[in-house]
Amino acid sequence: MFKALVMEQNDEGLASASIKEIGEDALPEGNVTVAVEYSTVNYKDGLCMSAKGGGLVRNYPHVPGIDYAGTVEASEDDRYKPGDKVVLTGWRVGEVSWGGYTQKARISADKLVPLPEGLTTRQAMAVGTAGFTSMLAVMALEDHGLKPGQGPVLVTGAAGGVGSVATAILANLGYEVAGVTGRPDQADYLKSLGATTIVAREELNETTKRPLEAETWAGCVDAVGGDMLARVLGQMKYGASVSAVGLAGGAGLPATVIPFLLRGVNLLGIDSVMQPYDNRVRAWQRIAKDLPMDKLEAMINPATLEDLPKLGADILNGQVKGRVVVDVN
Ligand code: NDP
Repeated sequence: MFKALVMEQNDEGLASASIKEIGEDALPEGNVTVAVEYSTVNYKDGLCMSAKGGGLVRNYPHVPGIDYAGTVEASEDDRYKPGDKVVLTGWRVGEVSWGGYTQKARISADKLVPLPEGLTTRQAMAVGTAGFTSMLAVMALEDHGLKPGQGPVLVTGAAGGVGSVATAILANLGYEVAGVTGRPDQADYLKSLGATTIVAREELNETTKRPLEAETWAGCVDAVGGDMLARVLGQMKYGASVSAVGLAGGAGLPATVIPFLLRGVNLLGIDSVMQPYDNRVRAWQRIAKDLPMDKLEAMINPATLEDLPKLGADILNGQVKGRVVVDVN
């Protein structure tokens, strides 16, 4: 028997979480069994722990947790053997299938990534989907020509999970980083991660009638979307790119095509969920190399399975700073 956070529905169809002892026979199908060590809390986890499952959870009882890292306990796949350290993000695990808020998980080997050399399972979950996506976003900017010295790179939602890791990676790679935050009290935290400029959220979350403003940003990792992304597009330097990662500020995009047509601005879509295996491995290796571990450590808020329901609500309210690391044991 092992512990898991299980969501169950009441008669009105509203789900709530409790910690239950469950047996291995309850685990879903898969050819690798993982002794989970750490998980984390992403925005999607907040949705999956909400009463209606955020429109993501299909069946109850459900074990949320879109990320986990741990040690292979049993494997019927040649790529993994007992004792191997592994990471799981994406593939809609924790949404449509059981996730990582458990001490034991079963999964298809195709969905796992070997833990890269130099990272612990705890550090991997401090990174989690949020940090993995940040690295994908930075790689996409680089693949489209971004280099240090071209000017400031904007990170929106900077004090959140995606934003914190993006800030630390970009600063470590030698970029000048400007972080947009709605929490002025987080300015010192963002500076400690390497941001040199703090931009107040109010400065960018209003639409303007002007499709183009001063050419300011050499690149952007955008976790916010909505009005802010529309505004930022008009402030990009000629030929610069924005990695669109998130929708913390809204799914709409009230923009014009003028920045694309007159400044050759690129809007790059970033998806972490269905990311092909080779690029997953590349991103995790880059994380181990380019994300300073002391900065990652400073982002960590430790938590246990018991803390999760509250943290789920907090992240939906934009109240989580940096990265939560859940020790499931
Ligand atoms: P967090 O809640 O940790 O961070 C989001 C941040 O956005 C907040 O901390 C806040 O930053 C800012 N924010 C919140 N609400 C608003 C608002 N109304 N207007 C402007 N800014 C706002 O979430 P994550 O970092 O985990 O995720 C960020 C986004 O990225 C989410 O939308 C998530 O769904 C998406 N995502 C997408 C992935 C993909 O594969 N494309 C993978 C992972 C996440 P501050 O306090 O600094 O202002």
